Amino acid sequence: MTRIEWQWRERGSGGAPYRQRVSVSEAPPPNTEFLTLIEHELNCTACNLRTDGAFCPRAAELVREERESRR
Ligand SMILES: [Zn+2]
Repeated sequence: MTRIEWQWRERGSGGAPYRQRVSVSEAPPPNTEFLTLIEHELNCTACNLRTDGAFCPRAAELVREERESRR
């Protein structure tokens, strides 16, 4: 079964990571940090106003935490 979800991508040359919609056939179960991040995305005005895939400082922090949690 294929579904659409957001994934975080690294930008080259030290740029901020950005989100991208991708279709996945089998995704690992989302962890708490990832769900926190998604919840922030849904509720954050600053993030929702942005259309370039960037996000607010709080979201950047959540992305970092989410990445750490997967190590
Ligand atoms: Zn935000």
